[in-house]
Amino acid sequence: MNRTDMWRRMQAHGNAWDMIVVGGGATGVGVAIDGASRSYDVLLLEQSDFGKGTSSRSTKLAHGGVRYLEQGNIGLVMEALKERGLLLQNAPHLVRDLAFVVPNYDWWEAPFYGLGLKLYQLLAGKYGFGASRILSREETLAHLPTLKTDGLRGGAVYYDGQFDDARLLIHMVATAFEQGATLLNYVEVTGLTKDASGFVDGVSARDVVTGNEFRPSAKVVINATGPFTDRLRLQAEPSAAPMIIPSQGIHLVFDSTFLQGDSAIMVPHTSDGRVLFAIPWHGHTLVGTTDTPVASAALEPVAMEQEINFILATAGRYLAKAPTREDVLSVFAGIRPLVRAPGVASTAALARDHVIHIDRSGLVTICGGKWTTYRRMAEDCVDQAATLAQLLEKPCVTHHLHIHGFHGAAKQFGTLAVYGSDALEIRKLIEEDSRLGEPLHAAVPYVKAEVVWAARQEMALTVEDVLARRTRALFLNARAALEMAPSVADLMAAELGWDDVTRTKQLDAIRDVASNYVISSRNSG
Ligand SMILES: Cc1cc2nc3c(=O)[nH]c(=O)nc-3n(C[C@H](O)[C@H](O)[C@H](O)COP(=O)(O)OP(=O)(O)OC[C@H]3O[C@@H](n4cnc5c(N)ncnc54)[C@H](O)[C@@H]3O)c2cc1C
Repeated sequence: MNRTDMWRRMQAHGNAWDMIVVGGGATGVGVAIDGASRSYDVLLLEQSDFGKGTSSRSTKLAHGGVRYLEQGNIGLVMEALKERGLLLQNAPHLVRDLAFVVPNYDWWEAPFYGLGLKLYQLLAGKYGFGASRILSREETLAHLPTLKTDGLRGGAVYYDGQFDDARLLIHMVATAFEQGATLLNYVEVTGLTKDASGFVDGVSARDVVTGNEFRPSAKVVINATGPFTDRLRLQAEPSAAPMIIPSQGIHLVFDSTFLQGDSAIMVPHTSDGRVLFAIPWHGHTLVGTTDTPVASAALEPVAMEQEINFILATAGRYLAKAPTREDVLSVFAGIRPLVRAPGVASTAALARDHVIHIDRSGLVTICGGKWTTYRRMAEDCVDQAATLAQLLEKPCVTHHLHIHGFHGAAKQFGTLAVYGSDALEIRKLIEEDSRLGEPLHAAVPYVKAEVVWAARQEMALTVEDVLARRTRALFLNARAALEMAPSVADLMAAELGWDDVTRTKQLDAIRDVASNYVISSRNSG
């Protein structure tokens, strides 16, 4: 899979596409997989890199959402739990089950949460991940040795799924490609084209790399632009009422000493009424998230000081060693594309259901939902889009469609496990040139061959693509990512034929982006 071949596929395509999907996050790529696997002719265009938006910035949980149980949204929870199960079946190299412990400091918490979590387990039915139960104080500490012990009574454990969001996404791009879709990163949709009756019949697009413009046409255009949903809708219908409320969430990343063991902490009620997680992730500790309404969506959102302080303070209430600003290895922010609901005061209370909306112009918009439910969202969207475009009716086949790299025992590949069967190809690169087996930095588990692989096979075009989304270095340790950037640039220059000017520009660009992921240098406000 590389960009040159994708362009060739695009240029060789004569007639109108069955579907053009705008947006290369979980939602858009899910739609591309669904459409292509039903043998529809699909083109997907992403303005930046695949996953540059919200889909690389999540808490990385394949979950039903314990909190939505409390909101009484049983249907949403059951649907998400089923999708969680299908995701584990179809991508076992990328999703794993994880124990979550709710620590109890009050007498009423154990029976209260124990009962709720039992219901959560039962709702998963045959897609269950493990039995939830109440834990004694000693059992709680066996799961979470670094939990604060003052006043601890016990806990309740339940099971959910964990994954690497950007890595899953790139494997989904490969899956869509294998099913026949054409997917291009760094192509911005700048407008919509319409036929004589005012019906959307294609898009105007610009290749961000070359500046070339083109106008592919389609029987239906699908807007999967997440937090940018309303911007594209306004192009179809200038009077369209907004559908989205953007809400920001941030995560802080620490080293693994803060959360030892292999279980996560789930705090069901923070002081602002949200859920907070502390999770072991790629040998680090990930803590989040907040829920702060923002005026508009940005492609590179920045964590606010009050969000950082809130997470540090809340984590300090549960972790024996309270983390400080100096301990933060990386901070990242993401924007939830929440669907508006009249009369709901807080974004935390807004439902995470997805919505499919068809404008009078025929633009199909899919928004809301969650990473976990991307497959189901895509199924619903393609059903409706195919009807609207009068395409030959074909059933959805993604329930049991394996995600690229499918491997039942990928753990044997060690730090390359997330690549699934592609790990064998990366090992081959190292066999051919042993220098590619060298680590890129002592603080993160990546080797040089992964950069070569990303440039050759995963459509990585920039140093940032490699550091943020092909590896997760920027999300795990922003300073380490900056330190390894020159080596990454050298390897990419050799693969992609960069001259010195391009290499320098790339390093300037990653320095700029990475400054948003480092906090201790900022003013603590
Ligand atoms: C902090 C946080 C934590 C979360 N945690 C979880 C979790 O643990 N589990 C879970 O299931 N869900 C979680 N979610 C929700 C989940 O991440 C999102 O629902 C999902 O990623 C949204 O995907 P998307 O494709 O709709 O949007 P995005 O990933 O934002 O993708 C939209 C894409 O459209 C592109 N685009 C926009 N305009 C154009 C244009 N004109 N031309 C071309 N491309 C364009 C953007 O560049 C972007 O890449 C979380 C969300 C947040 C914010």
